[in-house]
Amino acid sequence: MISWEGLSITFILSFLFFFFWNVRLFFKILYLFVFFVPFICYSIYLYNLNLNPELIRLVSQTSLREARELVSGYVLGYILVLIALTILYFVVVNNIRIKKISLTFALIVSILCAGLFWWKIFQLKKDFKVNSLYGILNQYYPVSIFSSIIQSIAIKRNSLDSTKNFHFSTYYLSRPPGRQVYVFIIGESSRYDHWHINGYARNTSPILDTMHNLISFKNVFSGAYFTYLSVPQMITRSKPGSMDKQFKEKSILSIFKQMDFKTVWISNQDEDYYTGSFTLHAQTADIHLFPDDKNVPDKRNRYDGKYLPIIDSILYSTKENIFLVFHTLGSHWNYAERYPVNFDIFQPSGKKYNIQRPNSGLKQVIINSYDNSVIYTDYIISSLIQMVDKLKSISFVCYLSDHGEDLFEKDKNKLVFHLYPSFQTLHVPLFIWTSKTFDSLYSDKVKYLLRNKDSVISSSDIFYTLIGMSNIRFIGFDSTLDISSPYFRSYPVYYTNDGADKTLFHYK
Ligand SMILES: [Zn+2]
Repeated sequence: MISWEGLSITFILSFLFFFFWNVRLFFKILYLFVFFVPFICYSIYLYNLNLNPELIRLVSQTSLREARELVSGYVLGYILVLIALTILYFVVVNNIRIKKISLTFALIVSILCAGLFWWKIFQLKKDFKVNSLYGILNQYYPVSIFSSIIQSIAIKRNSLDSTKNFHFSTYYLSRPPGRQVYVFIIGESSRYDHWHINGYARNTSPILDTMHNLISFKNVFSGAYFTYLSVPQMITRSKPGSMDKQFKEKSILSIFKQMDFKTVWISNQDEDYYTGSFTLHAQTADIHLFPDDKNVPDKRNRYDGKYLPIIDSILYSTKENIFLVFHTLGSHWNYAERYPVNFDIFQPSGKKYNIQRPNSGLKQVIINSYDNSVIYTDYIISSLIQMVDKLKSISFVCYLSDHGEDLFEKDKNKLVFHLYPSFQTLHVPLFIWTSKTFDSLYSDKVKYLLRNKDSVISSSDIFYTLIGMSNIRFIGFDSTLDISSPYFRSYPVYYTNDGADKTLFHYK
C-alpha cells in the first residue's frame, strides 16, 4: 500500500534519473517544493485542511484577491518560517557527500517509482470514481502544485471556441405584449439562515421584509461551494456530473440575445480567467462591465452600491428589452469591508476591530460584520427592485447566492469561510420579485412559484426558471427544472468540488 507520503516520494524520485550525474543539484531543485511547505502548514493550522491544497486552488483557480484576503493577516509569520526552513534545507543539502550515482541505479529507481506512482493514481481515480485525473492529483503535494498550475493554465487558456457552433433553438410560447426587463443578481457567500426574512432573529432584511410580490424560497441548495464552480451552474446547463457543458454550450445570455434582448453583465468581481468560464460568458453580453481597480491592492470600499447608478442609467437609457446580470461581492470575506459605514448596525464590528486574523475570540465581531453585509445586500436588492418597479414593465428581479458561508460551525475556533461542503455553505437564499405587469400577464407562473416556495431546489434550476419565467423555450427545455412551471419537480441535490465529480448532498 502506498500512502500519501509514498505518492509524494515516488513522484519526486521518478525524476532522479535526470540527475544521476549531480544528486546535490537534484535536491537543490527540490527546494521549490520546500518553498511551498509553510504555505501547506498554514493551511493545516488555519483551516484544518489536511495537506489538501484547497488554498493552492484558491490561489490558482479562484480569485487571487480572495486568497490574499484569506492569508493577509499571516504574511510576516509565513516569511519568517520560510527563511528558517530555507537556511536549514541548504545546510543539509550542501552536506550531502555523494555527488554522482550510477546511471543504471538511477534508471531503475526512476522507472520503478514512476510505475508505482501512476499505478496508485489510477487506482485512486477508480476507487473515488472521479472523472478527471486532476481530481486525484490535486489532492497530493507536491504533485498538486503541478496539476494546479496545469489546470489553471488550462482554465486561463480556455476559450469559448467550442461553443461557437453551439446554438439554442429558441422561441416564445407567446410574445409578451410590452417591454421586458429582467434582472438576475448573483449573491456572494450569503447563507440562507442569516436573513431575517428567512427566520433569523436579527433584523438583517428590514426592506425586503416589507416588500410585496417577493417570494423567498426555503430549500435551495447550491451545486458547489466555490464561486468558480457555482456560477456556471446558474448561467449555463452545466451541473455536477456535467460541468464541462460550461465550455461547450453558450450561456443564458445567448438565449436572451436571440430573443432580441439587450444583454448586460455588471460585475463587482475581478475579471480574471482563473475563475473559469463565467468571466468568458460575461464578455459575450452586449454591455459588460468589470471593476477597473484590478491592480489596486487595496480593494476596500469596493461596495456593490457603486453600481446602482450605472444600472439605473442602463435601464432608463433604452426602451429595449433587457436581461441584466449583476454579480455582487455580497458577503465575501473580509465582511467588514463589504458595506459602507452607515450600514454598520451590529457592533462591535470589523469596522472598528481588526478581524484580518479571524479567531474564536473575535467570533461576535465577525458575525456582526457578516450580518451588516447582509443588511447592505438587503439594501442592494431592494434598491434594484424599486428601480425596476418604476419602469412599469414586464419584470422580475431574482437574487440567488453562489454558496453560503461557515461561521464557526465546522470548527468553533476557526473561521473556515466556504472551504468545505456543509449545510451552511450549500444552503442559499433565493428571492424572486415580480412586477405588477408581470403578475397580471403570468398569474400562473406566480402561482407555481408560490407553490414551490418550500420545494427542494438546486441552484442549477435557476437557468431554466429564468428562461421559463420569460416565456421563452428552446428545443430541449426541461420544464421539470423550471420552478415557475406546473411540471417542476424536486430532484436529489448534488454538489461538485473539483468540477468533474458529483456528490449527493444529504441536507436532511
Ligand atoms: Zn463565492
